Amino acid sequence: MKELHEIIQSKFGISDKVLEYCIQKESELTQQFQAIDNIAEYNQLKVLSAMQKNRLSDIHFAATTGYGYNDLGRDVLEAIYADTFQAEAGLVRPQLTCGTHALAVALSGNLRPGDELLSPVGIPYDTLQGVIGIRKERGSLSEYGITYRQVDFLPNGKFDFDGIEKAINKKTKLVTIQRSKGYLWRISLSVAQIKELISFIKSIKKDVICMVDNCYGEFVEIQEPSEVGADLMVGSLIKNPGGGLAPIGGYIVGKEEFVQNAAYRLTAPGLGKEVGATLGITPSFTQGFFMAPQVVNGSLKTAVFAAKLFEDIGFSVLPKSTETRADIVQLIQMGSAENVIAFCQGIQKGAPVDSYVTPEPWDMPGYDCPVIMAAGAFVQGSSIELSADSPIKPPYHVFMQGGLSWHHGKIGVMIGLQTMVDKGLIQL
Ligand SMILES: *Cc1c(COP(=O)(O)O)cnc(C)c1O
Repeated sequence: MKELHEIIQSKFGISDKVLEYCIQKESELTQQFQAIDNIAEYNQLKVLSAMQKNRLSDIHFAATTGYGYNDLGRDVLEAIYADTFQAEAGLVRPQLTCGTHALAVALSGNLRPGDELLSPVGIPYDTLQGVIGIRKERGSLSEYGITYRQVDFLPNGKFDFDGIEKAINKKTKLVTIQRSKGYLWRISLSVAQIKELISFIKSIKKDVICMVDNCYGEFVEIQEPSEVGADLMVGSLIKNPGGGLAPIGGYIVGKEEFVQNAAYRLTAPGLGKEVGATLGITPSFTQGFFMAPQVVNGSLKTAVFAAKLFEDIGFSVLPKSTETRADIVQLIQMGSAENVIAFCQGIQKGAPVDSYVTPEPWDMPGYDCPVIMAAGAFVQGSSIELSADSPIKPPYHVFMQGGLSWHHGKIGVMIGLQTMVDKGLIQL
């Protein structure tokens, strides 16, 4: 592999030592990579078979305008999502502007004044806090008379089943379960754990709606929460299921009635799924979904590789390189602001877009400390593309995710490590 090593060193500035270390660590990951490949193959066939079953054809790639009545491509794509995730119905739209919006639509479409929402897995993702009204925002669910209850994980990281049982009451209408750790140092939930939690909740209250925030989780395992009892499952198309090709969008899949309720909220009561022109975006949504298992494969390998490089130097990482994954997010506890900044600057240097830009920490609205973000993405804010961000405060966690291909993810992480070595922050 002389040519490969030459281009890595001459074009990307990787030193002998870093290269040697990375080659060694990669060679120790064959088992994990094999497992990740097996999952991707399974999921690829799942998507392919849903496309065949729905007789996907090039007539479905036509653009609609105006009301978007009879948008065949949109309807087929929604059926493909529903079939892949074994759900009754799907809503997959560019009008769902992001993951937060899709979650807000699913919640507000299915909750009514006087209802209560329960999170049995601790505090939800930052932006959801505003939607629910945990953080005061105009138009939050709380302003519409929807109350909220939360049960935290036990100190040992397990579900607090007693607490959950006590929290469920006659007002409890919907339970929201976040699969990914988001930006917290907690475990991400496996599909098996989600199944256990949903069964427990339904054993206490049969008709409660169980919704899973599936952001960052799609195609990481061979099953999705919608296959193990979730009534609603929601995510973002600029994460896993968009496959890097969707330039916008969100999805909601689940029971027909609940998806319909969400559609009535997204458009208007009485209109629902019947309107919503796609303006030519359906080909990238559909092709992105087809590519997604492979893109998630690259992201997972990148995450495992980063975990391995850093844990063997002595950093705390979550999850460890040997642990099974429930999402694509890799946490590295960097221990100092200098480490965080150098790593993020390295990731940026390895990007296909804006590689010449040097990210610096800045006071982002809504954060209590400066934040640094490395992202050189084709789609703004897309976190299925290799990206890393970190609040500049102890214990200096970096959240790294994405990678449209393993080979890009690999060089990105290597440059991150190299930048830290160059600044004398770590020695190999
Ligand atoms: C990204 C994310 C969201 C919100 O998605 P946006 O597209 O950023 O609005 C919600 N929940 C989790 C767990 C996420 O990772």
